[in-house]
Amino acid sequence: MKTLLSEEELEAGVARMASEIAASYRERPLTIVGVLTGSIVLLADLIRQLDMSLRVGVLQASSYRSGTTRGELTINSEMMLDVAGRDILVVDDIFDTGHTLVEVVAKLNELAPTSVKTAVLLRKHGRQEVDFRPDFVAFDIPDEFVVGYGLDYADQYRHLRDLVVLEPDDLASDK
Ligand code: 5GP
Ligand code: MG
Repeated sequence: MKTLLSEEELEAGVARMASEIAASYRERPLTIVGVLTGSIVLLADLIRQLDMSLRVGVLQASSYRSGTTRGELTINSEMMLDVAGRDILVVDDIFDTGHTLVEVVAKLNELAPTSVKTAVLLRKHGRQEVDFRPDFVAFDIPDEFVVGYGLDYADQYRHLRDLVVLEPDDLASDK
């Protein structure tokens, strides 16, 4: 595995994105909705960088996938806060094809929020299949499969402090 972004680089990038978010909302109260499970580490770090009125909820978006290919998406919002009349910021780990975020935003928009913006840790170069841009992006990365800092491969590696590239050899030894 090779390190793409170190713990220190991740911390700096998240702090930078937090400043942009704070500047964008000024004194307006914000409701953050983290997309489980990949956003957990980002969510924990990001919210502690935001010195403002803040509510935090989560929803789960999962696709029937194993490994690196995606399947049909299901969204479970049973654990989410009420969002009607609120400014919502959706927080996710990575903007890859973009389908997940587009579907999550569409679902939230049905619940009559005041606004919905999106923040992602990573945007993968050359992969997007949707006409949609996240409002806040901490890092643009090349088209490689990454794990760590919340991102998994087959439910492993989420706890790694660095963001690392999973090489084909690592993928083959799926344990
Ligand atoms: P989408 O293609 O819908 O933008 O991204 C869907 C999901 O695929 C992401 O939330 C993330 O869980 C997963 N994903 C996409 N690219 C990667 C990657 O490089 N590494 C990992 N671990 N997950 C990824
Ligand atoms: Mg995800």
